[in-house]
Amino acid sequence: MQRLTHWIDGATRAPHADRWRPVDDPATGVAFAEVAAGTAEDVAEAVDAATRAAPGWAALPNSERARWLERLAMALENRRDDFAHAESRDAGKPFALVRDIELPRAVANLRFFAHAATQFASESHHGEAGLNYTLRSPLGVAATISPWNLPLYLLTWKIAPALAAGNAVVAKPSEITPHSATLLGELSGEIGLPPGVLNIVHGTGPEVGEPLVDNPRVRAVSFTGSTAVGRRLGARAGALLKKVSLELGGKNATLVFADSDWEAHIDTLLRSAFQNSGQICLCGSRLLVERSIVHAFRERFVAEALALRVGDPMDPDARMGPLVSRAHFDRVLAALQRARDEGGRVLCGGHALDRPGWFVAPTVIEGLGPESLTNREEIFGPVVTLQTFDGEDEALALANAGDYGLAASVWTRDLARAHRLGARLRVGMVWINTWMMRDLRTPFGGTGQSGLGREGGLEAMRFFTEPKNIGLSLG
Ligand code: NAD
Repeated sequence: MQRLTHWIDGATRAPHADRWRPVDDPATGVAFAEVAAGTAEDVAEAVDAATRAAPGWAALPNSERARWLERLAMALENRRDDFAHAESRDAGKPFALVRDIELPRAVANLRFFAHAATQFASESHHGEAGLNYTLRSPLGVAATISPWNLPLYLLTWKIAPALAAGNAVVAKPSEITPHSATLLGELSGEIGLPPGVLNIVHGTGPEVGEPLVDNPRVRAVSFTGSTAVGRRLGARAGALLKKVSLELGGKNATLVFADSDWEAHIDTLLRSAFQNSGQICLCGSRLLVERSIVHAFRERFVAEALALRVGDPMDPDARMGPLVSRAHFDRVLAALQRARDEGGRVLCGGHALDRPGWFVAPTVIEGLGPESLTNREEIFGPVVTLQTFDGEDEALALANAGDYGLAASVWTRDLARAHRLGARLRVGMVWINTWMMRDLRTPFGGTGQSGLGREGGLEAMRFFTEPKNIGLSLG
């Protein structure tokens, strides 16, 4: 069976403890590989390597670091199919989704921050108190901890700005989807990236994530994952006065007004609910629909959900694959049972598919209000609820109910209303008449229980650097 090892100091490394975890194929439920089950010793070794590499990497001209990132982007682009196979098998994603959307986005992340490295500049302030200028220096060693839902996309989204800003990185991917990160480590070796600049340590949160956060030489932690883990990790990093960025869960609303072109956009609305089996933090899991169109909307949306082809990730016609793991499958089925217990009416789906692997049918649930746990807690599966509203104020109240605040989409032809709502929705990102349209320069992140801090563009470059102001008298 294939063994996925750490990538430390420019080489593959077996785990110190010689322990391995199975990596399952979500489409069959059968293990196809083993991944290193890292421990604190592996973390220490990776942090040592990163500490040694950091000064040399920081000393390179920005344009040189940009060239390395560009080389990595090109190498990844050339190996697109291999990486897409790995990611599709690991995570159960439709192959075409990875090859045509997520992989290109991972390449774009590397390329975007290659450019950012050459464009990044610090500020100066003149005219109030002498002349002040700000230096922005790399931190040294940065840690990244990423989830399983977009394994390579979110890994590159973090390591690219960290490296561009001049840090050495120790990355901990999810233990559930370690394959593409392993390949990326090896790819960095193939292009000759200096040893220690990028290190990948596999393992669980408690065994690898926590020692990484605690390591005194790790100066910043960029985390994407669940709110529960983010809260714990934030407290840990806070106690050590470490920089931390937390991109957490969501319970996003999709606001559909009667005057919108919803029928023309039905495919995007469907994707916003079910892409990657609903396992995207930005998925709209609460459909809010204006009363005058709710009958027509319900009928069409449910018909489209029923027609979505759920199948093997390698089936070119499959729009949805399985959920990522047995544990997550069990959680989603428990959430479906809870929705029924709360009085929800299942309009379609609501069950697992009768086949091996962890497949759940696209599900639409009606009849639950904003106070229900189904509408308050993240399910992170192919499950949406449908609620009805009368007018803008009720739509806003429903959208803002709950503790999360990641994203929302608003569907209307009335642009004044769209902008009014854009300003009043309590979230970090709003899309108007679209969903998940991404410009990598914009601030990415959420408010409330959805996180702390922002990624993307300058926000990320600033997170991975330490500002120092220097003021001088002009006499
Ligand atoms: P998770 O919190 O279980 O795990 C995320 C990562 O943290 C994994 O690498 C895991 O091993 C690690 N981890 C777990 N416990 C840890 C600990 N005690 N210390 C340090 N690290 C630890 O999340 P998940 O199930 O992998 O991912 C799904 C969640 O991620 C969902 O809640 C989803 O909304 C969220 N997410 C958020 C965004 C965003 O940008 N806001 C993007 C994608 C996913």
